[in-house]
Amino acid sequence: MEQRRAKILGTLGPASNTDEMIGALLDAGVDAVRLNMSHGTHDDHTLVYNRVREQSSMRRKPVAVLGDLQGPKIRVGKIPEPGMELAVDDELVFIADPDAPIEPGRVTIDYVKLAAEAQVGERVLMDDGALEARITKIEGNEVHTKVVTGGLLKARKGVNLPDSQLELPSLTEKDKLDLRFALELGVDMIALSFVRRPEDLELCRTLMKEYGREVPLVAKIEKPEAVQPETLPAIIDVANGIMIARGDLGVEMGPEEVPLIQKQLIKLSNERGKLVITATQMLDSMIRNPRPTRAEASDVANAILDGTDAVMLSGETAAGKYPIESVKTMDRIVRRIEQTETYWLDPPQDMQLGHTTNAVARAAVISSRSLPDCKGIICYTGSGGIARLVSDYRPKVPVYAFTNQPATFQSLALYWGVIPIRFQTSSPSGESIFIDLDHAALERGMFQRGDRVVIALGWPLKAHTSVNLLKLHKIGETLRGAGGGDI
Ligand code: PGA
Ligand code: MN
Repeated sequence: MEQRRAKILGTLGPASNTDEMIGALLDAGVDAVRLNMSHGTHDDHTLVYNRVREQSSMRRKPVAVLGDLQGPKIRVGKIPEPGMELAVDDELVFIADPDAPIEPGRVTIDYVKLAAEAQVGERVLMDDGALEARITKIEGNEVHTKVVTGGLLKARKGVNLPDSQLELPSLTEKDKLDLRFALELGVDMIALSFVRRPEDLELCRTLMKEYGREVPLVAKIEKPEAVQPETLPAIIDVANGIMIARGDLGVEMGPEEVPLIQKQLIKLSNERGKLVITATQMLDSMIRNPRPTRAEASDVANAILDGTDAVMLSGETAAGKYPIESVKTMDRIVRRIEQTETYWLDPPQDMQLGHTTNAVARAAVISSRSLPDCKGIICYTGSGGIARLVSDYRPKVPVYAFTNQPATFQSLALYWGVIPIRFQTSSPSGESIFIDLDHAALERGMFQRGDRVVIALGWPLKAHTSVNLLKLHKIGETLRGAGGGDI
């Protein structure tokens, strides 16, 4: 079957934590998984992480693991099952004290400065905006509200205060602990929630350095501050990628703002060569039903047509009744769009990044598009940089990223059109690199003898040589190089 280009990121949770379910998700088409640090203990995440790595290596299928930091998200505290039923005009009191007793009409909230910083008249949204209340009175550490939209409030649900000026930190103490833990665990990427300014990401990077391991950083775009015209490009420039976190974004800005922001974010990221993940509620009804709504099918399709690198499943895979069906459905929708002519029109323009890797990446894609029988682009890469850039120029053929770095092998699984391959050249000095790549590709059945490919690498082969060489190669063609190998 033709390789799917856009990737699927699945959130793991109670519905998908077992070896069997993780294996089945990978088989159904998941390319990357999200460990959501908002839920579960470090021990839980360790267990799940190890299962992912095991299922991934059993299948020889690279899987990127994204550690998602909760960020300064406010939540209500414990509420006994089945939750607290709230009707319109009910009084609901938020108490900024984790030890306050829980009674009907009173809940605890984990932002201790709420009473000091919120104002009467401001909105309090709960559970992704499903419930709404308005602040009527503030007394001591108690914030009194009147319910505007009622419903069932369950324990630990998220709270958004879109009208309030809150002095929330960029990363909470919990985030710092989670970041250190996730890096030590071995995650391939980190996502930071509720990013408001580039400095939030810089702080996260500084902490990574301090903790001794730096991985690509994804900025979750879900705050009004982040999408301001003067801030957004700076955030995208500092991040390695972004997530269009439509859940909280829609709560904070109103659902009507989400479609245009989504298009703008995908366009900006693609122009800058950054990873972009479209997330949340993509197949929401599949949490309960085995079939998506037509609107959901259209939503996934449109995100692909807009040019997203990856699409994400949240509750659908983490807590729903149909995790596997959700992935299969998403896979089918993405493939269907990728079969249309329109998807392949308008390849990206020169990103003008001003370095040789960009020039070679662009040249590789142009060459592959002008050779009608070209079957793939092979990148030989340590850091994965060339493969990511080639992916950004959206070649029509798959990008085979040959690497001897396990971290690169894993993280590239999330990038559009990239197929990571574990590979070690037989001669470190590199004189037989083309022969080795040719053999490896033939051996693994990627190509037939005589197929044309484009090969991009940095010559001479040693660490930190930037990619500077492009070979238009015919698979199996005789090479008499310095190594003298004959193929
Ligand atoms: P979350 O982020 O699922 O971690 O809240 C995504 C979103 O808000 O859409
Ligand atoms: Mn969110």
